[in-house]
Amino acid sequence: MSDAVPTGDLEFTHQPTTDQSFENALAKARDGERLTVADGVELITTGTDRDGIDRRRKEQVLEAADRRRAEVVGDEVTFVANLNNNVTTACNTGCLFCNFKDRSEQFRSSYQEDHGGFTKTPAESREIVADAVERGIYEVCSVSGLHPALALDEEHRELLEASDREELNYRPPADYDVDPGTYCEQIRAMDVGGVHVHSMTPEEAYHARRGTDWAYEEVFRRLSRAGLDSVPGTAAEILVDEVREVICPAKIDSAEWLEAMEAAAAVGLDTTATIMYGHVENAKHRVLHLQRVRELQDRTGAITEFVPLSFVHEETPLYERGLVDGGASRDEDELMIAVSRLFLDNVDHIQSSWVKYGDSQGLKMLTCGADDFMGTILSEEITKRAGGDYGEFRSIREYADMISAIGRTPVERSTDYEHRRVVDPDADAVGPELGPKADGTPLLE
Ligand code: SF4
Repeated sequence: MSDAVPTGDLEFTHQPTTDQSFENALAKARDGERLTVADGVELITTGTDRDGIDRRRKEQVLEAADRRRAEVVGDEVTFVANLNNNVTTACNTGCLFCNFKDRSEQFRSSYQEDHGGFTKTPAESREIVADAVERGIYEVCSVSGLHPALALDEEHRELLEASDREELNYRPPADYDVDPGTYCEQIRAMDVGGVHVHSMTPEEAYHARRGTDWAYEEVFRRLSRAGLDSVPGTAAEILVDEVREVICPAKIDSAEWLEAMEAAAAVGLDTTATIMYGHVENAKHRVLHLQRVRELQDRTGAITEFVPLSFVHEETPLYERGLVDGGASRDEDELMIAVSRLFLDNVDHIQSSWVKYGDSQGLKMLTCGADDFMGTILSEEITKRAGGDYGEFRSIREYADMISAIGRTPVERSTDYEHRRVVDPDADAVGPELGPKADGTPLLE
């Protein structure tokens, strides 16, 4: 697909023009008033009355956000001991910002060339997670490509097998070298020894109900019974359809993403929310996205953290086809974090992703409004494969040293932030203590 996606000038309906002034918007932000989209646009652009970023104004926005962060969560910087266990890189969806997927035909038994991708069986997932649980992780996070053989469960597979609708993107497991099992089997497999299972994005939930009239609540209920504990709000990209039509035309639209997230919350699952910015969208789209997340949180109260993800452009079709010539600038990154903190007055935690920003800029974000510093990530495929340089494991020792070096308090947390433990950076051995088998020794020797 996606050869048909336009590569000419992108003419969006939404444009970053407002009748608000930067000074008024900043005053409202400092007073803790709920911001409008126009306020957000003024802050994130440092004023639409002038071109480019005004550094003095930028510092004012960052300072307001940092102060708000201190009021809301104090000086603690949190992180979670976690493992990324992605089940498969097989995917036909063809999002133009993604280099994680490998076209699923390459995974079929008839395809003989090496494609560098992978699929794990439920048994393999279990083994990987069980090892990490023994080491002391609290959470396993699993986000995968939309493998055509994946079905929600056996009942769903029977429905898909009986259907001759090509557009359902289904193929029986027997066509592939490796059988990924069903979503429920994978979740059950990863639910080892009381570990927290964080999985099933709205896009995966859509794949897990394709061809049926099942409500998202039914899908999440079955997954919850299989052991799912919370849902990552990724695949959000930009929740404005005119942008999605360019960067991920085969994905669910904004309304469906929000519907799936509400359903997850309705069956009692916590969620997170993300934004992937710095590609074809403009400042208005970024703030409209924040507004949609804020409204979702008003309705559900289930969002534990918001995660701004700066687009990594290398080796993506968007870059290779000339639709973008780079990602967001450092100024834009800092303003994205700051305005997320100021705009999302109902989400307590804003995450700085060291995988996307790198160590020093990731730490800087903790003074721009962010208070969470991700997780240990025992393995990380997604960012590495998209050309990022920072996809590495991070030990609790490194966390403790880095966070205390900027004068803040390192705190190991549970996925839902309910359990927290201050880490003593002066201790000899520093390891996780919150996971079901964590004993304070390091995750890796
Ligand atoms: S972003 Fe997800 S759905 Fe889109 S191509 Fe990549 S793996 Fe597939």
